[in-house]
Amino acid sequence: MEKIKLYNGKIITPHRIINGGCIIIEGGKILDVSTSDIHVEGALEINARGNYIAPGFIDLHVHGGGGHDFMDNELDGFLAIAELHAKHGTTALMPTTLSSEHQDLLDTLSVYETADVRNVKGAQFIGIHIEGPYFSMEQRGAQDPRYIRAPDPAEYQEIIAGSKAIKRWSAAPELKGALEFAQYLTEKGILPSIAHTNAIYEEVLPAFEKGFTHATHFYSCMSGVSRRNAYRYAGVIESAYLLDAMTVEIIADGIHLPPPLLKLVLKIKGADRTALVTDAMRAAGMPPGPSILGSRRDGLEVIVEDNVAKLKDRTAFAGSVATMDKLVRNMVEMADATLEDAVKMASLSPANIIGIGDRKGSLVAGKDADIVIFDDHVNIMQTIVSGKSIYVKSI
Ligand SMILES: [Zn+2]
Repeated sequence: MEKIKLYNGKIITPHRIINGGCIIIEGGKILDVSTSDIHVEGALEINARGNYIAPGFIDLHVHGGGGHDFMDNELDGFLAIAELHAKHGTTALMPTTLSSEHQDLLDTLSVYETADVRNVKGAQFIGIHIEGPYFSMEQRGAQDPRYIRAPDPAEYQEIIAGSKAIKRWSAAPELKGALEFAQYLTEKGILPSIAHTNAIYEEVLPAFEKGFTHATHFYSCMSGVSRRNAYRYAGVIESAYLLDAMTVEIIADGIHLPPPLLKLVLKIKGADRTALVTDAMRAAGMPPGPSILGSRRDGLEVIVEDNVAKLKDRTAFAGSVATMDKLVRNMVEMADATLEDAVKMASLSPANIIGIGDRKGSLVAGKDADIVIFDDHVNIMQTIVSGKSIYVKSI
């Protein structure tokens, strides 16, 4: 079996940055991470030219890019999105749905199966993230109100029975039936995530105990401190801070969350319990202007300006147009994160949150050879998925 050697780079491991070392790849896996540049007979050599060599980025929440949305339910669209994000350093991602017609969702699950097999030039698919429709109407944000409702056991059991690819489901924990829903998800190995919610701490705690251990796009469409008559209540934001073991994900585009909030999340939750997610919609990697959130057939018209998607009346954001490289760069430049922490939030932390940290997320012998090479400003130079180079920046 052919070996590959990556050398002449600054290797970011979970514990340090190694200068002058090398990484040996065989059969799509990392065979060794060496602190010196050892000679490997017959290996294909990749010169990192002094750039950083980091674990590939893992995006747990992404709807589209390059003009496509996963819910267009087109095979070519799935592949194009995977390729677009791979150019920005993503080696694994979770196609994410929106509240939609039931049949549209079933179609997305079915296209995923085919796309997963055909996807050889893009970031790997690591399971579906269903976002909705079990949400709080008041916190729906850009989710289509026509479909928002409480969990329906007959419905979700049918959906889950029809696909093995579902690995995560975002819902509001305060709804009737949400705790039973969380228990069902957990039994099926699906991560329940708190999203589009008006819950108070007294509702979050039992939900957390039932498996709602992760907060979707932290701060966005989510309750903070509220007052009911004279009394104050902690919301989901305070709950996520209070419950140390709760993990969060942030859209670190510098727009959904301004720099002080990025710093606050990092300060309280830390890099181990925070994942960077793009939550990117179809306009990621496209010029500004009118776009559509959700499927081309049934989605909402939105406008992309100032590097973010907004509802047409500009009352709320409607998804981001960010890519993972930008989020890592922002955490360093806007939130004073170390590069190691910023990379961890884009790789090992998301891997651990979704339960694949044993095989992805860091440059350690035995893990998948999902690797990204980038310069001092996190401009992606090369992306490698399972030991296969799928993107090289032309110089
Ligand atoms: Zn989303």
